[in-house]
Amino acid sequence: MANIKVTIWNEYRHERNNEKVAAVYPSGIHNAIAGYLGADQTLEIRTATLDEPEHGLTDEVLADTDVLIWWGHVAHHEVRDDIVQKVRNRVLDGMGLIVLHSGHASKIFEALLGTHTGQLKWREAGEKERLWVIEPNHPIAAGLGEYIELPHEEMYGERFEIPAPDELVFISWFEGGEVFRSGCCYRRGKGKLFYFRPGHETFPTYHHPDIIKVLNNAVHWAAPAQGVTVTYGNVQPLEPLKMAEPV
Ligand code: ZN
Repeated sequence: MANIKVTIWNEYRHERNNEKVAAVYPSGIHNAIAGYLGADQTLEIRTATLDEPEHGLTDEVLADTDVLIWWGHVAHHEVRDDIVQKVRNRVLDGMGLIVLHSGHASKIFEALLGTHTGQLKWREAGEKERLWVIEPNHPIAAGLGEYIELPHEEMYGERFEIPAPDELVFISWFEGGEVFRSGCCYRRGKGKLFYFRPGHETFPTYHHPDIIKVLNNAVHWAAPAQGVTVTYGNVQPLEPLKMAEPV
C-alpha cells in the first residue's frame, strides 16, 4: 500500500511570541507532532506554516497531500480566502482534514461545516480534562483505554455550535463541570474530517502518548479511500425502457 502523505499546518505564532509556549514546543507544535508521527513508517510527513508563501499550501503541496492537520488560533483572519477555498475543494475531492483545538474557529472548519463553529464556552484555568471514548470500536479509538486523562487543559464547554457529527468518538468532562463533544467525525464530499479538541498551546498535550495515538489513528482513518468513479448529470438508461406512451 502506498504511504500516506501528511501535511501538518500550524499558524506558528504563539511559539515565537510567548516564552511559556516556546518552552513547551521549542520548534513549534507542527514539528512536535511531526516528530511523534514520524515513528509511523507508513506516513510521509511535511509541515507548513502561515507565514510561508501561500501559507506553505501551494497547489503542488495540496495536490500531494492525503491528510492535512490544522492548528490555528490568533490569526485565523490572516488565512487567505482563496487558499481556504482550495483546501475546501481538496477535501470535497477526497483529502482528509484533521482540525485541532482552537481550529474550531478557523475559516476552513466553518466553510466545511456551514455554521459558526467558533461558538462555545471556554475557560483558561488549567483544569483536568477526561476524554471518554464513547465509540470503543471506532478506528480512531484503537489502542486506547476507556478514557484519556489530561491533568491540565483549557476548558471548552457545550453548546458547541456544530452540526451533529456523523460519528462522535469522544466526549470530554472538565473539572469545572462542563462537557464537550471533543472527537467529531464528518464526511464532506469524498473527504473525511475529524475535529479533535485538546491542544491548548501552553500545555504539553501533544507530548501525551494517547493524544499522539489518536492523531495517528485519525490520519489513517481520514486518508482517501480507493473509491468508485461516479458519473453525474444526464445519463442513458441501462435497460431498455418500456414506455406505455412515447413521450
Ligand atoms: Zn486554546
